[in-house]
Amino acid sequence: MEKQVVDGLREAFQSGKSRPLQYRKQQLRALHRLITERQADIDQALKQDLNRNTYNNSLFELIGIENDIKLAESELADWAAPRPVKKNLNSALDDVYIKPEPLGVVLIIGTWNYPWAMILQPLVGAIAAGNAAVLKPSELSEHSARLMKELLPLYLDKGMYQVVTGGVPETQELLKQRFDHIFYTGSSTVGKLVMEAAAHHLTPVTLELGGKSPCYIDKNCDIAVACRRITWGKFVNCGQTCIAPDYILCEPSIQDRIVEEIQKTLQEFYQKDPKSSPDYCRIINTRHFDRVLALMNECTIALGGESDRSQCYIAPTVLRDVLPHFKIMQEEIFGPLLPIVTVNDLSEAINFINTREKPLALYVFSSDKRVIKRMLTETTSGGVTVNDVLMHYTVDTLPFGGVGKRTNKKSLKTNNNAKIMETVEWADIMGDTHLTS
Ligand code: NAD
Repeated sequence: MEKQVVDGLREAFQSGKSRPLQYRKQQLRALHRLITERQADIDQALKQDLNRNTYNNSLFELIGIENDIKLAESELADWAAPRPVKKNLNSALDDVYIKPEPLGVVLIIGTWNYPWAMILQPLVGAIAAGNAAVLKPSELSEHSARLMKELLPLYLDKGMYQVVTGGVPETQELLKQRFDHIFYTGSSTVGKLVMEAAAHHLTPVTLELGGKSPCYIDKNCDIAVACRRITWGKFVNCGQTCIAPDYILCEPSIQDRIVEEIQKTLQEFYQKDPKSSPDYCRIINTRHFDRVLALMNECTIALGGESDRSQCYIAPTVLRDVLPHFKIMQEEIFGPLLPIVTVNDLSEAINFINTREKPLALYVFSSDKRVIKRMLTETTSGGVTVNDVLMHYTVDTLPFGGVGKRTNKKSLKTNNNAKIMETVEWADIMGDTHLTS
């Protein structure tokens, strides 16, 4: 079945129908219509998959897709145009240029945490580039996957773009086929399998992986503002965000104050009982629920800790005095647990970060420019936001991705293209836009 799908798409691609830019723009506009006309259905599916509210669906999935579509539509002619390059003596009288070409049939494999954005954002790029595409949404966000399969052929050219649903066997079957590029978002473990399968056909891959993203809070900063922003970025989508702050590093003298400020913010965001808050999500399934809950063993709970397996509910939880050898510090949490690890000073925090895998994202909160400068120059990570969290992801003109084990296409060139964003000047303006609803 998977072979038939890929063969069919290859035939359509080879017909040349996606070469005219007009065709690509038409498909992009159709995709835009899909996410706007069917937003209520998408909201319903996400409610069932993750108990996510409409506001956060727009903010975290649909606006990003929409912006990518608009950008691709307005820039397409420029992106697709031949680019003249500098000539040498031998070619002084010739036309010398680079001509962007569609690759062919690409495979996009997505995750369940943002099931629409993780598939449709790469699809925007695939359409703009003139490729045919197989979309493989995660089977864990099953309502979204089913809806995507139902809606896509109603809007897009089904000869060129197809959704394949299913789990591990279906994905493995797809990976046996020959693609011209594979764009994979997910865990490092499966990333290795994807790369292995791609190697068989020498297919280039883009890997969007995860990891632990540290958050250093300097004692010299507005701790209330820092905690408000961290609380938002950590607990939105129930902590199931690849660049969520994974853990806090701070000096022991401010640990109590941090707990206190997070508690105040949690009350404001989710009221007394987050379980009944319309703004608080759920863990995707019982397997992940059990995994996340087990990470709390050996930890001291400062806030939260309640859970209900029947609803895959884990309260926003802060863990204090966590030690580096605890299980929770050995893997990406990807859930609503926020450990605080104390360090004696900035040098120890930098050393802590540098003796682990290079983070996908790094956050530093400080009013002291020297602290910020040291953190930026003495650590390496995929991206940094200063005095805020997640925000570097939203800046289109910055690249996104990781380094080392968190490798993806952006980091294949050099570490220097890490995304860095400082929000010091406009810190206060941003404050209130981070409310969950
Ligand atoms: P997942 O379990 O849904 O797997 C992702 C995809 O891989 C799915 O489509 C699934 O069908 C497929 N898959 C799973 N096991 C497979 C196997 N054995 N063989 C072939 N295919 C298989 O999602 P996940 O891996 O739990 O995703 C969470 C991870 O993704 C986290 O580490 C997170 O940080 C990362 N992530 C990264 C980004 C980013 O942009 N860098 C974005 C979102 C999530």
